[in-house]
Amino acid sequence: MKTLIIKYIPRALLLVLLYIALACTGGRQVYAKSDGTTSSDMEEKLDSLAAQPKVERLNPGAMCYDTVAQNDTENFICLKCKKATKYPLGTYNQIITLRKQLNAMKGINVKVIDNGFCEHCNNGKPTMKFVLYVYYPDKKKPVRSEIDMSEAEILIQYMEGKRVFKGETGNEIDMKDFLPLLRRVLVGK
Ligand SMILES: [Zn+2]
Repeated sequence: MKTLIIKYIPRALLLVLLYIALACTGGRQVYAKSDGTTSSDMEEKLDSLAAQPKVERLNPGAMCYDTVAQNDTENFICLKCKKATKYPLGTYNQIITLRKQLNAMKGINVKVIDNGFCEHCNNGKPTMKFVLYVYYPDKKKPVRSEIDMSEAEILIQYMEGKRVFKGETGNEIDMKDFLPLLRRVLVGK
């Protein structure tokens, strides 16, 4: 019995050490659960956009755009305080769609906070902005930014790989024009 204990203690110790080592690396990998895009990869990507020539012959879009009056409303339920804020149906759908699209962006690891659209969390005046956290395996702290709905649309189209942003009326804008926004949101610069 004595020999057995002596024989197995070093092995048990090794296992404990191995477990600690695994736990440590596991903890570090919290930031690496995306596809491994680093913040320097992202900076390179943005620099290469900056180096490209401007896109010519863009569609200016339709001149007239009728917004249909909407009387229907829908309750936006805040994920933080669980309370409801009424929005016209169109705006509500836009918020929900953007939230989904932001969460589904490929190539980066993001966290989307949407209580900016909640009147209860903002003293009756919603900021109408998403708070975005972008995590990179080479950065300890995420890049935090606040973006409104049109900025969210630009970011989503950029992350889809679009070279030209397409607006609601079919209008097209060179993504290069949005580099300050993209840099602020994606690399915090
Ligand atoms: Zn709230």
